[in-house]
Amino acid sequence: MDLFKIFIYDTSFDFMLEILLRCTAMYILVLIFLRISGKRGIRQLSIFELAIILCLGSAAGDPMFVEDVPIIQAFLVMCTIIILYRMTTWLMMKNKKIEKLLEGEPLYIVEHGMLVISDIKKEKYSHDEFFAEMRQQHIEHLGQVKSALLETDGCLSILFYSPQDTRWGLPLFPKSYITATVYETDRFYSCMYCGMTQHLQHLDQVCSRCDHIGWAKSFNSPHA
Ligand SMILES: [Zn+2]
Repeated sequence: MDLFKIFIYDTSFDFMLEILLRCTAMYILVLIFLRISGKRGIRQLSIFELAIILCLGSAAGDPMFVEDVPIIQAFLVMCTIIILYRMTTWLMMKNKKIEKLLEGEPLYIVEHGMLVISDIKKEKYSHDEFFAEMRQQHIEHLGQVKSALLETDGCLSILFYSPQDTRWGLPLFPKSYITATVYETDRFYSCMYCGMTQHLQHLDQVCSRCDHIGWAKSFNSPHA
């Protein structure tokens, strides 16, 4: 293994200086083009926006250090990408069907304090991801949530039950989200898979909603 070849090879001092100049130019160009795209600071990207960023990024990369790629070529690539991006956003504004195709639709994740199983399967999200997201919104258990919507940018929008309407629901924090082992007649139990909440005959009962077995003691504290 030739370390000199891996790290330096035929890089001259002149070309090192050229790389500094090329990077600075591309950095400024990327900033300008992101401004032109009209996007604000971004928390999360939709798939469509991510594609634009990836295209801009790969157009910016090569001219930073590949000797025979002039900056004008990258500039043209970036112009084309931004024009396409602007045209697509315009089309999406005009046509709901195109918007749905490119951005996807918001999906209900929670309704009436229970997980919407079909939509979760569609999204290929794990429970853990939703639970983590909801915990970050200070949700102690699903009985506090009237509905939760997964937006196309990956954020959760949440509607809460008012304190007096709070239901019994599935706890989301690890110390409470545990399989119940001691059966009590008058207690509410929540299905650990879908959040279905009910009284039980015994703890090996199959959930009538999702066919899973596994129950946690329900909570009913109101959302703070
Ligand atoms: Zn269930």
